[in-house]
Amino acid sequence: MSDPPQDHLPPPAFLADPAPAAVLAALPGARAVGGCVRDALAGRAVHDVDVAAPFPPEVIAQRLREAGLKVFETGLAHGTVTAVLRHQPVEVTALRRDVVTDGRHAEVAWTTDWREDAARRDFTFNAMSMDARGHLWDFFGGRADLAAGRVRFVGDAATRLAEDFLRALRFFRFWARYGQGAPDAEALAAITAAVPGLVARVAPERIWMELKRLLEAPDPVGALELMAGVGLLAAVLPEGAEPGRLARMIPHGLPGDPLLRLAVLLPLSADVSAIARRLRLSGEERERLTVLRRIEAAPRPGDAMRGYHFRAWRAQVRAASRHVMPVEPLWVAQAELGGEGWAELRNRLSPDEADPEFPVQGRDLLARGVPPGPAMGQILGRLRQAWIDSDCTLDQQALLAQAKNPGTADGTAAPEGIAPRDAPGS
Ligand code: ATP
Ligand code: MG
Repeated sequence: MSDPPQDHLPPPAFLADPAPAAVLAALPGARAVGGCVRDALAGRAVHDVDVAAPFPPEVIAQRLREAGLKVFETGLAHGTVTAVLRHQPVEVTALRRDVVTDGRHAEVAWTTDWREDAARRDFTFNAMSMDARGHLWDFFGGRADLAAGRVRFVGDAATRLAEDFLRALRFFRFWARYGQGAPDAEALAAITAAVPGLVARVAPERIWMELKRLLEAPDPVGALELMAGVGLLAAVLPEGAEPGRLARMIPHGLPGDPLLRLAVLLPLSADVSAIARRLRLSGEERERLTVLRRIEAAPRPGDAMRGYHFRAWRAQVRAASRHVMPVEPLWVAQAELGGEGWAELRNRLSPDEADPEFPVQGRDLLARGVPPGPAMGQILGRLRQAWIDSDCTLDQQALLAQAKNPGTADGTAAPEGIAPRDAPGS
C-alpha cells in the first residue's frame, strides 16, 4: 500500500476520458492497471481501461453509484464491476491475491496491497499501474521489458504456468504484439512443459478466445512459428496449421480478421467441422470458416473474367453466407494456389457494382399455386441454384418455366400444381 511510485509521467490522454476520469475521482487511491498502462507507455492506442482499487467490490460498487455512475455487477465474485459513463465502460476490480489455484481458476481474496495484486498478473509489462496524476508503479521492471520487447513472466515461469496454463497462449499473444529479439529461453522451456496441462485444463472456449487475439495481431507469424517450435500450435490446432501460409499472405495485405487468418493458416485438407467442434466455434464462426474455404468456383487470375462471372460468384457467396464478403475467399485461394494477379482480381471483385437480384420470390410461386411450406423453399433453392449456374442470366420467366417443368434444374421432379395463374411479375 505504501510503496512509493517508481516514476511520475505526464498523464496519458486516456486518463482524461470522461469515464476513467470519473471512476478514478470516485475511488480515491484507485489506479489504471494492465493493458491500458502498457499500451499508453508503448505509445499505442488504448482500447479498454481497467481500474483496480484497494476496496472490496461492494464498496467499489457503492462509491461508484454514489458518484452517479451506472454500475453493472458483471463479476462480483471475482471482484469486478463495470462502471459506465457516456457509453464508455470501465472495468473496476478489487485488489486481489490468489488463495488457491488449480491450473486455470483461482480462488481469490481481496487485499489492499498493490504489490500482491501485481504479483498475480501474468507478465511484467501487464503488472504496472498508474494513478490519475501519472504516477507509475512498476514493481517488476515492466517498462524496461516493454521497451526492449521482452515478454517476461512475473516470477518463475513454470510456477506461473502451473497456476494458470492459459498463460502459455497469452505469452504468444503478447509476443506477437510486443516481442523483439530472442524470446526468453526460460519461458519457452516452461511453456514446452506446460503444453499438456493447457490441453487438459483449459476450456476450449478460452483457448479459442486467446487464439483469436493472437491471430488479429498485425503480424502473428513469428509468434505462431515459436508456438509450433514448442509444440503448442499442434496442441491447439492438431488439424495442421502452417504459419508459412500466413507469412506468404500478410505482405499482400491480408486483413486482421482472425477467422480469415485461421482460414488461410489451415491447409485446405484440414477438417473444419472437427476444428469448429473442438474449439466450440459459434454457429456464425463455423459458417464463415466453411464458406471462406470453399474456393473451387472462385475466380482466378488469368481467367477471362466477364462481369457476369463476378456476379455469379458474388451470388454464390451471398447465398452461402451473409457473413462472408465475396472477396474474402480469394485470400484463401491465393494462399492455396499462389501465382500473380490476385490483388488486381480482388480489386475487380470489390467495386460497388450492385449485386444482381434473384428474380423469383415466394409470392411468385404462391401466385402459381405452390402452397407455402418446405416444398416451396426447396423449389426456391433449386431455382436459385439454376440461376447461379446460368451466371445469373436467367430471368424470372425462364426460371418459372423451369419450376413448371419437372427435372430441369437438378433432376428432381418439381411438385405438382405449378401452373401460371397470372403473368410472371404481376
Ligand atoms: P488487451 O489490450 O489485448 O486486452 P490486456 O492486458 O488488457 O490486453 P486482458 O486479457 O484484457 O489483457 O487482461 C487484463 C489484465 O489482466 C492483463 O493486463 C493482466 O494484468 C491480467 N490478466 C489477464 N489474464 C490473466 C491471466 N490469465 N493471468 C494473470 N494475469 C492476467
Ligand atoms: Mg483487455
